[in-house]
Amino acid sequence: MNPDLASLPRLELAKLPTPLEPVRRLSHALGGLDLWFKRDDLTGFGLGGNKVRSLEYLAADAIGQESDMLVTGGSPESNHVRTTMAVAAYLGLKGVAVLPSMQPAETQGNFLLDKLLNAKLVFTGDPDRKYLDKHISHEVERLRALGGKPYMIRRGGVSPLGCAGYVAAAVEICSQLKELNIDPDILLCATGCGVTQAGLLVGFKWMELNCKVYGITVSRTRNECIAYIEQLTKETAEILGLDLTITSDDILVIDEYIGDGYSIPSPEGIESIRLVARTEGIFLDPIYTGKAIAGLTDLVKKGNISSDKTVIFLHTGGSPSIFSYASAITASNDSANSLFIKLPGVK
Ligand SMILES: *Cc1c(COP(=O)(O)O)cnc(C)c1O
Repeated sequence: MNPDLASLPRLELAKLPTPLEPVRRLSHALGGLDLWFKRDDLTGFGLGGNKVRSLEYLAADAIGQESDMLVTGGSPESNHVRTTMAVAAYLGLKGVAVLPSMQPAETQGNFLLDKLLNAKLVFTGDPDRKYLDKHISHEVERLRALGGKPYMIRRGGVSPLGCAGYVAAAVEICSQLKELNIDPDILLCATGCGVTQAGLLVGFKWMELNCKVYGITVSRTRNECIAYIEQLTKETAEILGLDLTITSDDILVIDEYIGDGYSIPSPEGIESIRLVARTEGIFLDPIYTGKAIAGLTDLVKKGNISSDKTVIFLHTGGSPSIFSYASAITASNDSANSLFIKLPGVK
């Protein structure tokens, strides 16, 4: 590993490497492209997902600063909040979660797990997630004034240290590709705050891997994402001492699959969750990964990704939020039977 990446303090939280495996029945259902899943839903810690990789560097930094609490924020269904609160518990630190609006009506999914982890929940009363980072930093100031040593983690773990987790993941992927002797054309993932995509872009460029990274945004517009990601790649390369530049042309973001908005399930996303569960026994989520696979399905259908391509889907986790969307997932437009007929056993 690069000395600069190795010199960053890191706490081993994830079970690595996560598997990189073919999904043959799903590939067949999508028209025969060579599709692989990188199983970052299986990072393990606190029910896993992509945020665990970022937290390995962020939590190590918190310990280095002798902090006694981790303070972050996100929506009640945030995977980032759940894993951060699990890390706080594991390290014997206080976990504080700043959440928009008010107490949600239902205690389910990630929010249920936050409560189980004994997170201190602070509701802002402000439904706009845009101002969440400001509320988090107010809470940090308040706790500091009370004599605490809070460590602030921005919404989604946004920071160059958070991105370092996905630079390390890129290195891990490269060594798996060598081992498996595959040469992917595209890696596709769901993009939220862009930490994952930024880290991968830096890592692939540094490893000189010629694989495009497609981010299917689930909230921000394409242009907003590109600006965010470009800035993050700059800062990340800088803390790692890497002399490389990611230009906006390298940052491929597709914003056609958001549907009605962040955390609002789309019919295509729900259909993708069903398809992947029923072809592979793998669970996606309605907010991120379901919409990303809906995007992949559509790009293949439109011929934008041809079926001779080798594609890696980065499964970023999120399955606990399935339980917050039970009615959407079990709705009556379920095409289970036609799917069953369409799919012969190909394994
Ligand atoms: C946070 C999250 C993402 C998006 O990751 P970013 O680094 O914020 O772009 C994707 N999938 C899941 C399940 C997530 O929790």
